Amino acid sequence: MKRKINEKILIIGAGLGGLALAQGLIRAGFNVTVFERDESPTSRAQGYRISIRSLGMHALSTLLTPEKLDRLPAAKVKGVGDGFTCANEKMEPFFSVSQGQDAAVQFLRSELRSLLSEGVNIQWNKRLATFEDKDDRVIAHFEDGSYAYGDLLIGCDGGGSIVRELLPSVYRSRLGSIPKVIDSNRAIFGGQIDRTPEWDELLPLNKTGLVRFLGPHSHYMGICFSERADRSPTVFWAFSEEIKDRTAPWYQFDQGLECRKRILDHCKQLMENEPWHENLKKLVNDTSAEAIMAPWLVRTTRFPDSEHFPMVPTGRVTLLGDAAHAMPTEKGLGGNNVLEDARLLSALLAASQEPINWREVIESYEREMFVRAKIAVKESEGAAEYFQNLRSH
Ligand SMILES: Cc1cc2nc3c(=O)[nH]c(=O)nc-3n(C[C@H](O)[C@H](O)[C@H](O)COP(=O)(O)OP(=O)(O)OC[C@H]3O[C@@H](n4cnc5c(N)ncnc54)[C@H](O)[C@@H]3O)c2cc1C
Repeated sequence: MKRKINEKILIIGAGLGGLALAQGLIRAGFNVTVFERDESPTSRAQGYRISIRSLGMHALSTLLTPEKLDRLPAAKVKGVGDGFTCANEKMEPFFSVSQGQDAAVQFLRSELRSLLSEGVNIQWNKRLATFEDKDDRVIAHFEDGSYAYGDLLIGCDGGGSIVRELLPSVYRSRLGSIPKVIDSNRAIFGGQIDRTPEWDELLPLNKTGLVRFLGPHSHYMGICFSERADRSPTVFWAFSEEIKDRTAPWYQFDQGLECRKRILDHCKQLMENEPWHENLKKLVNDTSAEAIMAPWLVRTTRFPDSEHFPMVPTGRVTLLGDAAHAMPTEKGLGGNNVLEDARLLSALLAASQEPINWREVIESYEREMFVRAKIAVKESEGAAEYFQNLRSH
């Protein structure tokens, strides 16, 4: 039974974290509004698939209603393995693992997002510009001049979080321990092509799941079979390199075709000058510029030594997901931790009595969340380093 809760919660960002949190809070009876800078649910490609393990699956099982949970399996990607292989650029494997007990479930990002959006009041085209904390409420101000009042504001606005960046100017010396999200100096360029029987033949290691091909000069390529939002089978590739010059044209992305062409040419050129297997070169060469996605800049997080929570004195503003703890992608832990943050915060708020003591609830949330996040960031950085060393020996 939902209880009637009068408090209004403002969520900034309709990504995995913001939407998962909204599901949990709505289930608990809160009045929730999500504000998203994208113009519409389809204005930006949502990437390919995401591997969710027991941590994330458990979180989803408590955040979603039983009816939505029943429909969750329909968001799985079909016809792909959940194993992992690491190989060199000549397609010679170093090792292969099947995922065993903590098997990852491969979800299509677009389907998962659409399920998590159901029943949520999402205000599109609302880019947060700043916010105020008036002690008994928060006011979010958007770039279009509009604003919204709430009792709690949660920054679920990703690694480049503006909520996090605004904290020092809004609270000045009254701030607690704030994480610092930093650039890892790596970029990932990705593209996709139709999955045909020919590609299944040319990429035999991919039959059991994701493959990471480690190349020279700490370049690597991740390839997985997946599906597009319309469920057509696809081969997805992502090429990763250290950023040498931040002003280089391929790191700038404006959604235009010229920009995609530049990125594709850059990847082709990098591979041409190195001993990559012909099938891997063919994959990139056969990809059309239209199928190139926006580059990802890999981030990680530095946590302060002191543990002074809640981060803000009133406890009326907090962070969730990549906004609080962006991490390298090598272990696939980021999204799992995002979902666990949403489960934890929803559970703490659902268990609180009215009038809610925000400071107390948010302090408990941040203490637990940051302990877990620190471990996940360390493991992810360790995995990134491991792959670098594996290739250089
Ligand atoms: C290549 C790659 C592969 C990955 N694979 C996995 C995996 O297999 N398993 C896993 O667990 N994790 C994986 N991750 C990590 C996972 O995708 C992220 O941790 C997760 O998506 C972060 O969710 P989030 O909601 O915190 O942020 P996001 O998904 O980045 O959402 C933030 C949202 O906030 C919006 N926003 C930003 N600024 C504003 C503003 N000012 N106003 C309003 N809205 C704003 C954005 O438009 C966006 O919609 C992967 C990441 C990458 C890059």
